[in-house]
Amino acid sequence: TKQATANFIRTIIDDDLQSGRHTSIVTRFPPEPNGYLHIGHAKSICLNFGLARDFGGRCHLRFDDTNPAREEIEYAESIKENVRWLGFDWGEHLYYASDYFAQLYQWAEQLIRQGDAYVDDLSADEIRAHRGTLTEPGKESPYRNRPVEENLDLFRRMRAGEFPDGARVLRAKIDMASPNLNLRDPVMYRILHAPHPHAGDAWCIYPMYDYAHGQSDSIEGITHSVCTLEFESHRPLYEWFLVRLGIYRPRQYEFARLNLTYTVMSKRKLLQLVQDGDVAGWDDPRMPTLAGLRRRGYTPGSIRTFCERIGVGKSDSWIDMGVLEECVRDDLNANATRAMAVLRPLKLVIENFPEGDVEEFTAANHPQRPELGSRQIPFCREVYIEQDDFMETPVKGFHRMAPGQEVRLRYAYIVKCTEVVKDGEGNVVEVRCTYDPDTRTGGPAAGRKVKGTIHWVSARHAVTAEVRLYDRLFSVPHPDKGGQEYKSFINPRALEVLPAARLEPGLADAAGESRYQFERQGYFTVDARDSRLGAPVFNRTATLRDSWSR
Ligand code: ATP
Ligand code: MG
Ligand code: MG
Repeated sequence: TKQATANFIRTIIDDDLQSGRHTSIVTRFPPEPNGYLHIGHAKSICLNFGLARDFGGRCHLRFDDTNPAREEIEYAESIKENVRWLGFDWGEHLYYASDYFAQLYQWAEQLIRQGDAYVDDLSADEIRAHRGTLTEPGKESPYRNRPVEENLDLFRRMRAGEFPDGARVLRAKIDMASPNLNLRDPVMYRILHAPHPHAGDAWCIYPMYDYAHGQSDSIEGITHSVCTLEFESHRPLYEWFLVRLGIYRPRQYEFARLNLTYTVMSKRKLLQLVQDGDVAGWDDPRMPTLAGLRRRGYTPGSIRTFCERIGVGKSDSWIDMGVLEECVRDDLNANATRAMAVLRPLKLVIENFPEGDVEEFTAANHPQRPELGSRQIPFCREVYIEQDDFMETPVKGFHRMAPGQEVRLRYAYIVKCTEVVKDGEGNVVEVRCTYDPDTRTGGPAAGRKVKGTIHWVSARHAVTAEVRLYDRLFSVPHPDKGGQEYKSFINPRALEVLPAARLEPGLADAAGESRYQFERQGYFTVDARDSRLGAPVFNRTATLRDSWSR
């Protein structure tokens, strides 16, 4: 079954299967384990694993771990966890490009013997200077025409560790005048005396990404190697290596990467935010990382829906953050349990309610889904209401709590405000009211209408919780438009901590990652890391409505 909407890659695969060019397809998701996955990677994961799922093929998870300097095991572990969390399964097909180092080395010797590669003694700076520009051809290295035997000997000695870092490189011998700069004798191998997190200390020369990637695809029998548009100009090189080596040729296809407003996605910038303490870590709920989105309360399904909605195209464009937020709202609106939570509490005393009495009211867990059941909510003489739901001097149209005014306490009674209690500085510290006992559900005046309904929690029964109100990390749509300035656009209101919100008692030991709609407030999830039994921490996933698009 094709669960996804059509896109140009699906059309190509349909054709390939129909024409018999392939009988089944193999795709791959090839992260470099040098950081945490972000929402942009989710687009690639959903695309590659989605193609395999829908066309009955398979998708490999391959760590493109050719650069030991920036890679860590911790990142590889988090990548695996994120892919599983998103709902995808690579089965047996977990690979490491570094497991191909021996084969890649043999192929490099083959290219040297064919006269297709040479050892260059120029420094990195000199190579750059020789490379030329878009309008100027490059200059050939004086070492370009070394005899094969000398190249072989030097390359083997590079591998044996005879030379220091940067002393020599192996380059493909292609065309220094090519209009495509990627074909101007690209570097294939460099010397780097550094251990590798997966390959250990077996190597002191490491292949460049462009030399390793296509051959890795070939080794694994990838049929459709799908990558982002910036690799379009690398495709001729991808093919050049495969053709010269005479090995199986996967086809590379490029799609537009995800650009999302109000955030940054480059790993370097995300790392900087972590290192500078602008956020609390890679999984800070403000981060666009999958770990951050998960802690924020995003469901895997909402992220898959997002990737489906934005589609897969061939031209770069921007997706508004509101689209992602709408996906999680839709999911949580349909699925999250409702609850009452008072974020900024104000005490309300019901003067004619007997001291010590407790009543219970039944509240549905979801207004449209009776199968999700209901719960009992205790009510007593003192409750908390939201500070915002009271105005001593109400503005026109304010139908909530105000002196002399009636309002319904959700699921419970209609109450009428009788008195306001202030502290020495004139701050309202308590509101007093009377209730109409006939207005309870099933009571003789249950149907009596008042203009406002507010939420509340019983003061005696409430659980106190820390609630973290998260918002967008940046306050402008394109924070990295000006390069390094992006940090000055960090949204100072992206996190507000409410230390003593009061929640209905059933939330005291809510499981980590369980998700709720706090009525009239938004969607919230239990922070799995910082919550303690009886002292939960809730993170706001999203407000009920988009407050940014106006
Ligand atoms: P960064 O530039 O942030 O370091 P990257 O592209 O180098 O990210 P990789 O680990 O190499 O990160 O990415 C793995 C895969 O995810 C690649 O196939 C890459 O094309 C894809 N990918 C990365 N960012 C995006 C994005 N914003 N949209 C779609 N796909 C992406
Ligand atoms: Mg990359
Ligand atoms: Mg990168």
